[in-house]
Amino acid sequence: MAEVSPVPPFARVSLVTRKENMNVHEFQAKQLFGQFGIPVPRGKEITSPEAGAAWAAELNTPVFVVKAQIHAGGRGKAGGVKITKDKAAVPGLVKDLIGKTLITHQTGPKGREVRRLLIEEGAGIAKELYVSILVDRDSGWPVFIASTEGGMEIEVVAAQTPEKIIREAIDPAVGFQSYNGRNIAFALGLPAMEPAAVTPFIQMLGNLYRLFMDKNAAMVEINPLVITSDKKLIALDGKVSFDDNALFRHADVQQMRDLHEEDPLEIEAGENNLNYIKLDGNIGCMVNGAGLAMATMDVIKLAGSEPRPKK
Ligand code: ADP
Ligand code: MG
Repeated sequence: MAEVSPVPPFARVSLVTRKENMNVHEFQAKQLFGQFGIPVPRGKEITSPEAGAAWAAELNTPVFVVKAQIHAGGRGKAGGVKITKDKAAVPGLVKDLIGKTLITHQTGPKGREVRRLLIEEGAGIAKELYVSILVDRDSGWPVFIASTEGGMEIEVVAAQTPEKIIREAIDPAVGFQSYNGRNIAFALGLPAMEPAAVTPFIQMLGNLYRLFMDKNAAMVEINPLVITSDKKLIALDGKVSFDDNALFRHADVQQMRDLHEEDPLEIEAGENNLNYIKLDGNIGCMVNGAGLAMATMDVIKLAGSEPRPKK
């Protein structure tokens, strides 16, 4: 019997794909959503208990939601999303969250320090959906990903119940058409779930597509997109990342950059036009070209060590 050669333990492929995108906070994503006609709760960025009290008074809603702003998801489960009906409790929640280190499944063990909050009105949730748009690397076309399993990690849904992930590719030469929206709405079972949400949903997808294209986003994700108990469609969370190569076109987006969320070494390297990626290994790599970098990392891994690219 022919011997099967062992599969080499290839190094992480993140090297060439990582620093291509700039992320923004949820409150900034929601500002963009507002500009593009995607409905969001009324909310404001807050950094102090006093400002929290003033905004809570102005917001004057039955339910207040205080949300940690860090460039990582999974905040709800980690205690980074607080809900209260008591206006007077809002400043205390601000105090609790500001300065706290939040550890979620996306932050790594060190966690992230919370420096900013979003305080917004609470929504009565009837159904949580998932919607995102990104570029499909195989076809090069923008593709919508949608699921009825909103509020959950989409990776888990994809792994456990792949049939619940819906994909709809958009021909960029033609752009988003309402039949694309109908395809997604029907595949989700939306007409049976909530008929009143179908038309707003299709319009919202069109707006999402416009935002994605106009701002040269790499990914826009709404998880959850909710249908409220009064049958409205609202984006309750928002994640947007932008293609670094197109940032020069978007001064408004550049201003949203939060350097506290980025690795200091990577910032310094960026200022010097170096592509520097921090990894955790014990062998430094200085390479020219992404392909050579990948091959070098693979060889290091194959020899039983860990790569650590160095500037
Ligand atoms: P993360 O994805 O980081 O956990 P989310 O913004 O998705 O943060 O919030 C987690 C959960 O908290 C949501 O799935 C939703 O159930 C609830 N939630 C968030 N914002 C609101 C809001 N404005 N009104 C009501 N519930 C909310
Ligand atoms: Mg979320």
